Amino acid sequence: MNEILRQVPSVDALLQRWPEKIERWGREQLTVAIRDELTVLRKAITTGAVEDVDISRLSASIDGVLGARNQSSLLAVHNLTGTVLHTNLGRASLPAQALAAVVNIAQGPSNLEFDLSTGERGDRDSHVEALICELTGAEAATVVNNNAAAVLLVLNTIGINREVPVSRGELVEIGGSFRIPEVMQRSNCKLVEVGATNRTHLKDYQNAITPDTALLLKVHTSNYRIEGFTETVSERDMAELAHAHDLPFVIDLGSGNLVDFKSLGLPPEPTAAESINNGADIITFSGDKLLGGPQCGMIAGSKELIRAIKKNPLKRALRLDKMTLAALSEVLKMYRDPASLTKELPTLRQLTRSKADIQQQAQRLLPGLSEILGQSFEVTVQDCSSQIGSGALPIETLPSAALAIASKANVDAEIRQLMIALRQLPVPVIARISSGLLLLDLRCLENEEQFSTQLADLQ
Ligand SMILES: *Cc1c(COP(=O)(O)O)cnc(C)c1O
Repeated sequence: MNEILRQVPSVDALLQRWPEKIERWGREQLTVAIRDELTVLRKAITTGAVEDVDISRLSASIDGVLGARNQSSLLAVHNLTGTVLHTNLGRASLPAQALAAVVNIAQGPSNLEFDLSTGERGDRDSHVEALICELTGAEAATVVNNNAAAVLLVLNTIGINREVPVSRGELVEIGGSFRIPEVMQRSNCKLVEVGATNRTHLKDYQNAITPDTALLLKVHTSNYRIEGFTETVSERDMAELAHAHDLPFVIDLGSGNLVDFKSLGLPPEPTAAESINNGADIITFSGDKLLGGPQCGMIAGSKELIRAIKKNPLKRALRLDKMTLAALSEVLKMYRDPASLTKELPTLRQLTRSKADIQQQAQRLLPGLSEILGQSFEVTVQDCSSQIGSGALPIETLPSAALAIASKANVDAEIRQLMIALRQLPVPVIARISSGLLLLDLRCLENEEQFSTQLADLQ
């Protein structure tokens, strides 16, 4: 045993032997990894588990350790869940123009807050404000980190220490911890609940207005719908009531949409411009839901209110970074040519993809997948329904097609193991199980070649 231990090389000897590893990993972490591996090796020799010193095995093991340690935890995946705007999978995918703008602006200095005509300090919002105004019809606009931040900032500016009546039917929770009553509290507003869960009338708001009322708020109930004996007050009526009392009317639109969805063949969804036209003084909406841009929150409305919102010290804490501004500006510009959106903007391209097109893709992929999965599984092409996701249009579904994988022996564990194996591919594939079948909804599969090439790793 001592003889074998004597064969164990020193850390320095290995560092000299492996210049290419120094190049790849850097001397510091390589030294630590070698030391750790040598400790393990010596122990294994002492216990008799290892009976020789194999340098190539040592090398592979060190590369394995350092490779795993330097693997990013944030990975690109294939979203085959059938939910287009999947919050846990990063929501909207950005178009090429936006990505190019991010690279261009992130790689060096920019005029982020610098006015090129005067040479003086500029305003970072200026790069998107005019575009947001053009697309919504609002007088002024500002942007923050996401729509949750937008709602917080608006309430904390206009409603601080005062009352805000909200319909009981709109006290929504939007995934995780964003609940309207809690956001109200953190904004230092006093929530005044009006109406009932299923029905709220104009007179409920009327009766709730006191000298302490700061604004009227409407929240788009984006992620659920009440059906049956229901009533809500229209934006126009709420605007009229608010203005009769000299109060601002604020709408949290949630997803926010800038085009006529019906003309794209999608379920109807009101646009931001309609809400401004209906008399909203402030609207807020997300950048990475139906809009298909980067994560951010838009605030648009009257000049006077936007000015006050921008002066709130919290604006600084919630402001957008230059990469997001670069991407947002490109995505917003695409809305000037609505006819191109279903081709150029990934979110709208995926939402409007025809079932026939998805079926064809499934038929193309079927033989290869069947062969790789082998005898234990049967793969077929099945109809399925995609969801829009992110709380946008919660009930509407989109007819789609999936590769449906069944265990021939009807063993659930086989299906679950396959789902895990798919998640361990270099570009993890996220699928779902429905009625004992593993479904790969292909609506959002854009990089087909990468997908089919890496399937060989399943074997
Ligand atoms: C999604 C949503 C939010 C939160 O928006 P984020 O962009 O996720 O921060 C707020 N309000 C409504 C009504 C929403 O649908």
